[in-house]
Amino acid sequence: TVGAIGYGAYEIYGKRHPLEQKPFDPKKRTVVVLGSGWGAVSFLKSINTDDYNVMVVSPRNYFLFTPLLPSCTVGTIELRSIMEPIRFITQHKSRNVKFYESECTDIDPESKTISITDVSDIKGSVSNTTVHYDYLVMAVGADNQTFGMAGVREFACFLKEIWDAQKIRTRLMDCVESAGFAKQAPEEVDRLLHMVVVGGGPTGVEYAAELHDFLKDDLEVWYPELADKFRITLVEALPNVLPMFSSQLIQYTESTFKQNKIEVLTKTMVKEVADKEIKVMDANKNLVSIPYGLLVWATGNCPRPLTRKLMARIKEAQTSPRGILVDDYMRVAGAPDIYAIGDCTFSKYAPTAQVATQQGLYLASVFENLARIEEGQNKKITPFEYSHQGSLAYIGSDKAIADLPFLNGNVSVGGVATYVFWRSVYISNMFSFRNRFLVVGDWMKSKVFGRDVSR
Ligand code: FAD
Ligand code: NAD
Repeated sequence: TVGAIGYGAYEIYGKRHPLEQKPFDPKKRTVVVLGSGWGAVSFLKSINTDDYNVMVVSPRNYFLFTPLLPSCTVGTIELRSIMEPIRFITQHKSRNVKFYESECTDIDPESKTISITDVSDIKGSVSNTTVHYDYLVMAVGADNQTFGMAGVREFACFLKEIWDAQKIRTRLMDCVESAGFAKQAPEEVDRLLHMVVVGGGPTGVEYAAELHDFLKDDLEVWYPELADKFRITLVEALPNVLPMFSSQLIQYTESTFKQNKIEVLTKTMVKEVADKEIKVMDANKNLVSIPYGLLVWATGNCPRPLTRKLMARIKEAQTSPRGILVDDYMRVAGAPDIYAIGDCTFSKYAPTAQVATQQGLYLASVFENLARIEEGQNKKITPFEYSHQGSLAYIGSDKAIADLPFLNGNVSVGGVATYVFWRSVYISNMFSFRNRFLVVGDWMKSKVFGRDVSR
């Protein structure tokens, strides 16, 4: 019976079994997609596989819904609820999409080949090979910006991938349990329970907000002897947090953080990172030490090694160190058969999921039109146009902020009602019914039982 129920659910959820999909057609052009994030998946969802063979290369065999990743660091949402296997996504295509869980290590635009390396710990007899493409879609995202500062990779936690959220969670609980260890020195308790977040962009702000909720709702209840010792500090080099939001929402966020006892140090730049303390240049240009237990580093993006390698190969056309330059049709300058979308590009838009998604959808329509033009139809390829749908961020205590375009103007709202809106937007933007179901279940679970405080 259980098997029948399972199969029934699969029948409803799965539209097409892989064996029922058309195989690769040697007469069709092959599009190789690098990545399985926002840009790649929105492209994959829309590309017409009747026209092309499609192959995906990514070290992650799943899509990650990054906007809810900060909620996973404290257990409001379970990690697997925001992951979607790439094969669940490609099952809907008419032609089988090949997926290789591997990292692309080099791109040769001359021979139109890429080098790929198996990323699994258990390797077969072949773990490095080359793959030919007719068109390449680069959607490899970006790396964490460290400014080459020693100690950041060694001692801080980033917040970009699943394993980052797991690491933050483990370190946080380690700090709490060590602070409660027998005969712990008072100054060591203070250090261990001081959580420092570097970077007042949306990642740093949302993480500080989630951490605050976890401390207030759960840790202070389960660890009453430590309750008055927890501290959160957010360090930001600029004069305020969230520079992309309206001044009204910046003020609202900073006052909400003040009420929530999150200390915000603006005009303060981290200069050195050691295992137990950071050194910052404060607003008065003094070098000050800040001891920490947990350090979360969220200072933005920089190009990945693969992106830099490709840019170096075509350096006459790639003149920006900040990412790949593309034209209005997402074609890589200096490499005509390569397209790039999302965070790996350098464009006039902020590196967001919203931009990557629209670029992925646009590129799929370009490929559709290219196929129709080849068949002799009269189709025109128009340039990419970004349509900004607004910015949202969670700021803690069931409050969110939203800057929304409205009748040629802008509406700035913040509060509990905005939080309900924030939740509904994210739920509706999830790529699958399965993810929506799991996330809503997690929200209910954490409301009813509280968050899990086990390591
Ligand atoms: P990604 O989604 O990062 O995907 C890159 C893919 O490339 C991954 O699958 C990766 O494994 C793969 N890859 C990496 N290296 C290689 C390689 N060498 N070969 C092959 N594949 C490779 N944006 C919003 O608009 N709204 C939000 O609320 C929001 N919240 C966020 C919260 C957090 C915590 C973070 C970190 C980001 C958030 N963003 C948000 C930004 C958003 O996640 C990014 O802009 C978006 O992921 C960019 O999409 P992408 O496809 O370019 O890259
Ligand atoms: P970011 O680039 O938006 O912000 C990084 C911040 O770190 C900047 O304000 C910068 O001044 C600060 N900083 C840099 N070096 C510093 C130093 N040494 N000391 C102190 N502060 C320093 O980065 P992010 O928050 O990781 O976001 C990356 C991208 O993802 C952005 O485009 C963002 O819009 C997007 N994102 C969006 C959301 C959302 O819409 N809710 C959430 C997360 C991320």
